[in-house]
Amino acid sequence: MVIGLAISQAAPGLAQAEKQTLTYGQLWEKLQSGQVVKVDLYEDQHLAKVKLADQKSKEAPYEVELFERNPELIETLRKNKVETDIVRTSGDDAITGLLFNILLGFFIITGLLLILRRAGNAPGGPGQVLNFGKSKARFQMEAKTGVMFDDVAGIEEAKEELQEVVTFLKKPERFTAVGAKIPKGALLVGPPGTGKTLLAKAIAGEAGVPFFSISGSEFVEMFVGVGASRVRDLFKKAKDNAPCIIFIDEIDAVGRQRGAGIGGGNDEREQTLNQLLTEMDGFEGNTGIIIIAATNRPDVLDSALLRPGRFDRQVIIDLPTYKGRLGILDVHAREKKLAPEVSLEAIARRTPGFSGAELANLLNEAAILTARRRKEAITPLEIDDAIDRVTIGLTLTPLLDSKKKWLIAYHEVGHALLMTLLKNSDPLNKVTIIPRSGGVGGFAQQVHSEDLIDSGLYTRAWLLDRITIALGGRAAEVEIFGDAEVTVGASSDLRALTNLAREMVTRYGMSDLGHIALESSSESEVFLGRDLSPRSEYSEDLAVKIDHQVRQIALHGYEQARKLIRENRLLVDKLVEILLEQETIEGEQFRQIVAEYTHAPVKQPVMPS
Ligand code: ADP
Ligand code: MG
Ligand code: ZN
Repeated sequence: MVIGLAISQAAPGLAQAEKQTLTYGQLWEKLQSGQVVKVDLYEDQHLAKVKLADQKSKEAPYEVELFERNPELIETLRKNKVETDIVRTSGDDAITGLLFNILLGFFIITGLLLILRRAGNAPGGPGQVLNFGKSKARFQMEAKTGVMFDDVAGIEEAKEELQEVVTFLKKPERFTAVGAKIPKGALLVGPPGTGKTLLAKAIAGEAGVPFFSISGSEFVEMFVGVGASRVRDLFKKAKDNAPCIIFIDEIDAVGRQRGAGIGGGNDEREQTLNQLLTEMDGFEGNTGIIIIAATNRPDVLDSALLRPGRFDRQVIIDLPTYKGRLGILDVHAREKKLAPEVSLEAIARRTPGFSGAELANLLNEAAILTARRRKEAITPLEIDDAIDRVTIGLTLTPLLDSKKKWLIAYHEVGHALLMTLLKNSDPLNKVTIIPRSGGVGGFAQQVHSEDLIDSGLYTRAWLLDRITIALGGRAAEVEIFGDAEVTVGASSDLRALTNLAREMVTRYGMSDLGHIALESSSESEVFLGRDLSPRSEYSEDLAVKIDHQVRQIALHGYEQARKLIRENRLLVDKLVEILLEQETIEGEQFRQIVAEYTHAPVKQPVMPS
């Protein structure tokens, strides 16, 4: 067959159905009998093509499989004066080369396609090169979010405000009948993880309308015009699916004050923002589209966004209070298996400052720990470990007995004892010398009262005790090991107490300088980005006095701490002994020991070298 022949000649490595073969022995025989006229040796493939004297010239040569090395064959061929060709360009090489070329071509084409697609993302924009792989707007659409108001807890006021939006979407006639204009947008303002996205989804879920979402950062692209075109696409899609919700996350990424910001204006962002404003103005209030945007930086937003007819409703979503945390824990405990001893109230009490997302994460961590420990249900132990893990860090393996371990034990017992002895202090939860990731050698932890945290009404006495407690670690080090042995481990304690003492003087009017506020920075303002540096409203003379007052407060705390530790030296030693043995002392046990342990013989600690 002609084709078979052609292929078998071009690519001798490929098996052909009709090829004729000889064994090595047969070849040897034919050689001896002088029947061989020509041999092509394909050494790389261990193949010889043999032309015999009785073959027609157009007939395919016989193929012979060769061994690794064939010096005798070549020798014999030469002796018998057979025409011999050694073919080096093997078929294998040809195939490898072909594959390589195909791969190279593939990469080049893929690369080109990628470049073209990027450029093509800007239909109509100046960045458009080809209309290749046309713009795929990067917004998500969920026909049904499946989230209900019941799934959102702890932000009741916000929920109530937005309840109305659900009615707008479900029964617009109720409003339009009396001539009310339905608002176009609501702006959710609050720190990350407080449930802004969740709430927006819940509105869509309650109203049973589709949910379109996009993040502000996705609007801002490399090519000018892409963002604007995405806004256009998004609104077009939304109009086709009205009634619906459009959710714009991180709106500050596009909605910053125009013409402001580092490095001057950003053309792309401004175009995107303008397009957004145009689209918002472009539809009537009753088309059934409601735009919900989220940000934690409302202060940087362009004022045009906040005008009536745009995001005219602002809903503040704050970190949850104790009650809110309890509600959120309730929601997330629904699908978790909790042992009956687990008290959500206790968790809520121990997690001030946690956002909804952090609480959800906490319960999830506890569930993971439970599964890892092969338990049936989450017990308080897993909750405890999860809280520590989230707030302080991963547990590391305990230190071996060493001087370091002793130092840490005395330091932490110093804190813990003061937490227990001082009248205005919140009680000790536990003290431990099991190290944590992030350089934490151990810690003493309090249970804070929820009323105090949520109201923020800390008294002067409470603050002073807190400062004394913060100095307890260092005080214990000095009392036991002497001035020369103190460690750098107290640096974060010192920083915390200095800040506290300074605030007492400058913001709360709790020093001899009188009842005046000297500085006006507060955390919430920092969070809002309005006043990043505290404004000083005092003279240099007063600054010196402030420093003096701060030092006085710290010094007083330090002296009190040292005095208490000195007076209770035996108790301290006993507690350290137990702590070194157990590695953790729970608050209850700690208080018991403190209550029991009174007059006992002096025992010097023996430190391992
Ligand atoms: P944000 O958008 O404010 O950053 P998310 O809505 O994305 O926060 O919240 C992330 C997750 O945290 C939610 O999916 C939910 O599981 C949980 N979460 C946050 N806030 C709440 C809340 N108020 N109620 C219930 N779960 C919440
Ligand atoms: Mg979000
Ligand atoms: Zn400390």
